[in-house]
Amino acid sequence: MKIAVLKERAAGETRVAATPETVKKLAALGASLAVEEGAGEAAAIPDAAYAEAGAEVGPAAKVVTGADMVMGVQAPDVAALSGAKPGAWVAATFDPFGQRERVEAYAKAGLEALSLEFMPRITRAQSMDVLSSQSNLAGYKAVIAAADQYGRAFPMMMTAAGTISAAKVFVMGVGVAGLQAIATAKRLGAQVSATDVRPETAEQIKSLGGKPVFAEGLEASGEGGYAAELTDEQKAAQAELVTNHIAKQDIVITTALIPGRAAPRLVSDAQIASMKQGSVIFDLAVAQGGNVEGSVPDQLVEKHGVTIMGFSNTPAHLPADASALFSRNLFNFLNAFWDEDAGKPVLDEEIGDAIRLTRAGEVVNPRLQAAS
Ligand code: NAD
Repeated sequence: MKIAVLKERAAGETRVAATPETVKKLAALGASLAVEEGAGEAAAIPDAAYAEAGAEVGPAAKVVTGADMVMGVQAPDVAALSGAKPGAWVAATFDPFGQRERVEAYAKAGLEALSLEFMPRITRAQSMDVLSSQSNLAGYKAVIAAADQYGRAFPMMMTAAGTISAAKVFVMGVGVAGLQAIATAKRLGAQVSATDVRPETAEQIKSLGGKPVFAEGLEASGEGGYAAELTDEQKAAQAELVTNHIAKQDIVITTALIPGRAAPRLVSDAQIASMKQGSVIFDLAVAQGGNVEGSVPDQLVEKHGVTIMGFSNTPAHLPADASALFSRNLFNFLNAFWDEDAGKPVLDEEIGDAIRLTRAGEVVNPRLQAAS
């Protein structure tokens, strides 16, 4: 089985879908690996390291020629895959709801698209879950970037010149990214509070040393451990909660997402106006429509003396670790299904049908079919 790894072509993408470590492990399973020249450059992995690990390193066209499978961080354009074997697998993130045309193009080209962000959130798939591994790093980076932007320190400091008080950090949305944001802000010495619409997160916030801030009756648990959309009444209750709390905060990190929908709006311009000058808001959902009014991807927006920021691709700001974890997720996925006799992975229904978007010219994914 030939596995190709291309250099990512999306603007601002610094990650790579395989590292020398996973190249070695995949080769040990019996695969032959081909990596495009410069694929790891932005993640500080030189071509020579891939070659040493056993990969053939070459130009894109040569790498893709005859490939049974292509691995990517973001799914490449179909045009880049013309030399691959008919029906080749492409395992990558596809943004299937946002980039439906790309999915259709994969179907038309007869490729089998495997969307890693559709990996089911079941125990045995945890080690294959790129959303978790990348969100965890994003939650960390959001706090570090906000701290860097903030004109004051995070921890309380008692010095001969006087005392500096601890920064107050409020985390909105306590999924994987939010939990890491709480932990990171705590490690930096901030006073941390956090909120969510899933009640079970209150305990998780406490266990990390944060203070849960919840409104009565504000519960919106959806399927599979995700949130559901709030009713208008619940939105009003949340707005009141935020209004009362946010004016006293120095740093706000928002991470709220609802699968398949635009990010919920959590912070309004009027609420931003109530904050102290010099406060910083990091909107981790900015690329999905934003939790914060006025946030713009990759720009520092100043409003009412408050800085609003957010990256279009936060894990890409930690390319080496993000690539290492993403690549291990991919290896864990292929390894779990590797069939020695077949010399390639053979997927089961629970995971295969969940992540497969296209096969034999058709869009076959039930979530996408339901959304069309
Ligand atoms: P996510 O990225 O979809 O959303 C981030 C957070 O925003 C969630 O906690 C969500 O409840 C919250 N949110 C949504 N709307 C909100 C609103 N209006 N106000 C405040 N908060 C709001 O979530 P995620 O990080 O992907 O995690 C979702 C769940 O999946 C968690 O329970 C997590 O523990 C679980 N999970 C399970 C596995 C597994 O078992 N393999 C892997 C990863 C995550």
